[in-house]
Amino acid sequence: MFDVIPDMAAKRAALTPDALAFHDTSTGEDWSFARINAAANAVAVGVKAQGLAEGDRAAIICQNRVEFFIALFACQKTGIVLCPLNWRQPAPELVETLDQVGISLLLTDAEFQATAREAAADIGAPVLTIEEDLAGWIRDGGPALNAPVPAGQPWYLLFTSGTTGLPKAVIQTAGMAWANAVNIGQAIDIASTDRAVCFLPLFHTAGINLYTLPVFLTGGSSTILPKFEPETVRSLLASGQINQFFGVPAVYQALALLPGIGDLNWTPIRCGCGGAPLPEPLIRFFAARGASVLNGMGMTETGPTVFLMDPARAAEKIGSVGKPQSLVDVRLAGVAEGAEGSGELQLRGPGVTPGYFGSPEATAKTFTRDGWLATGDVARRDADGYYYIVDRIKDMFISGGENVYPAEVERVLNAHPAILEAAVVGVPDAKWGEAGAAFVMLRPGQTVSPETLRPWCRERLAGYKVPVHVRIVQDFPRTAAGKVCKPKLRKDFTDD
Ligand code: ATP
Ligand code: MG
Repeated sequence: MFDVIPDMAAKRAALTPDALAFHDTSTGEDWSFARINAAANAVAVGVKAQGLAEGDRAAIICQNRVEFFIALFACQKTGIVLCPLNWRQPAPELVETLDQVGISLLLTDAEFQATAREAAADIGAPVLTIEEDLAGWIRDGGPALNAPVPAGQPWYLLFTSGTTGLPKAVIQTAGMAWANAVNIGQAIDIASTDRAVCFLPLFHTAGINLYTLPVFLTGGSSTILPKFEPETVRSLLASGQINQFFGVPAVYQALALLPGIGDLNWTPIRCGCGGAPLPEPLIRFFAARGASVLNGMGMTETGPTVFLMDPARAAEKIGSVGKPQSLVDVRLAGVAEGAEGSGELQLRGPGVTPGYFGSPEATAKTFTRDGWLATGDVARRDADGYYYIVDRIKDMFISGGENVYPAEVERVLNAHPAILEAAVVGVPDAKWGEAGAAFVMLRPGQTVSPETLRPWCRERLAGYKVPVHVRIVQDFPRTAAGKVCKPKLRKDFTDD
């Protein structure tokens, strides 16, 4: 679509040098676009002085802070590929990741220095710190860099959430980021007056791309929190410092439990949600308080925006993720173009990754022969062209010869007044081949016996979909993105 993409920090610094780009709550400091660009120029020089060249990988481990974005823009300027690490992982797990991507440098902040040194020692990579080395480079400064980069050149690597198996390293390009900025920017009307907040982890696509980078490219500002802190988000919303945010369902779940959350003036606030199914009661909870939480769908492999619900029909099409955004082509396997129906969701467009890093086999398996990304998700299109994510193909199970999509059973359980969140998996069953096992978290102060939940399901679902097992749990095993780790739930039944 585009051959080259501008140096993003330099472009923004030329357009609106003095406007606010970032406010970092850890230090209380404001950063203008010009200051960010100057810092990125300096870091580009510093990293190159370590002997790194275009295509080499530099890893970074820290919670959310402005220096992460400075390093990201420095990498765009140099062609060095940034590899953000999951700071929840202990050193042995990090070693595996670092081995997989083959890094030449590891940048860490003070908090993760010991872990970083332990991990890097194993692979012999130098460790530099954000507080000393990177800060020193910024103080020293560097010449202005401002060259466009090829749209398809790898810029950074992001790991998928690891919901269905081991996380995969997905190549992210400047072209993908630009396409995402168009897709999400048009979907939610991002403007230079916007004030976003960045609290989702920066080692996943949503942290960088929803909405921080698109807002940056439009000239708006982002307040950076080290991580998701529900009370801080509430006070940022109450004070008007932010006017939009993106969360995964677990974020909305946590906000809904905060006292006084309904007293906020939600009218000027735009809320997006994605990454996992958004429970209907949660949409209704916020709608009743004047907040329209727009459901969207995206993937690490797609930069991420694919679908976003439009506010005009959000109330009428609850459960829908909306329509494909501007720069995404969508087809459903086995369903005629434009017709109603369900099938595997397949995607194409400039927001789609060129592939998995160092794994041409995995890349080949994920793309169809004619070049579409096979998502592994089943989606349904309705008569008005709105889409619904049915479930992941991998999570579907077959009970007595019938296909069961756990997401449908979860929707029924989530509608129960005592239930906060439900997760259903298929487990081996002597009689039916496979049967449903439901894990249920209750709302605070609620009690319910598991036996009463089967009749609740039986009244609302075909018999073969009703879970055979029901367990009340305090929490779910979750990925860093807050998604329920279903392979771990299944293990409860296959290990004994
Ligand atoms: P892995 O690929 O490692 O198993 P993952 O698929 O969860 O993990 P991500 O790239 O973070 O990794 O997530 C993309 C997936 O999340 C989509 O393929 C889809 O299954 C799911 N998803 C995203 N948004 C929604 C949504 N609004 N409703 C339902 N599912 C969603
Ligand atoms: Mg995936």
